Amino acid sequence: MRIELVRGDITSQEVDAVVNAANSSLLGGGGVDGAIHRRGGPAILAECRRIRETRYPDGLPTGQAVATTGGDLPARWVIHTVGPVYARSQDRSALLASCHTESLRVADELGARSVAFPAVSTGAYGYPLDEAAPIAVRAVLGADTQVEVVRFVLFDEAAERAFDRALREATGQPG
Ligand code: ADP
Repeated sequence: MRIELVRGDITSQEVDAVVNAANSSLLGGGGVDGAIHRRGGPAILAECRRIRETRYPDGLPTGQAVATTGGDLPARWVIHTVGPVYARSQDRSALLASCHTESLRVADELGARSVAFPAVSTGAYGYPLDEAAPIAVRAVLGADTQVEVVRFVLFDEAAERAFDRALREATGQPG
């Protein structure tokens, strides 16, 4: 698997699937979620509502993932995952790692070969970038998946720096 780091907007990515940093309601929010629904159009929300009515009446649990159409996005599918809210008093890294491995498992079910991730949990959910980036990178590197390209799409310079450092540390490459 190849890992790419790019600075940009997750909604513009020309990949098979983009991952949404959703909340458990699946009914929309701010940040990545708001941007995906705005640009992807109503078909995504309609499918999220159906998923709530059928598979997840109480909402999608933290650390899990579910797919919908990509609607009007360049990507064919959106994989919605719910990151943990950061808590200094509790280690929630396993849940953040699970967002990545579960998203890749869903990607395998779909037959997606290229997947773009935002920096899950590092916005409204408060995870420090320097803690989230190594968890995300290690989870992806360790995943048993057929996905060929994983692209982390970072919104700003701080996020890009944190993921770049995490990738270099995880792969032992000099900076
Ligand atoms: P969470 O609720 O999981 O913290 P957010 O959507 O609030 O998710 O933020 C996750 C990360 O995505 C933050 O680092 C934020 O800066 C970034 N982000 C926000 N909008 C976009 C976008 N359109 N494309 C890529 N990253 C984005």
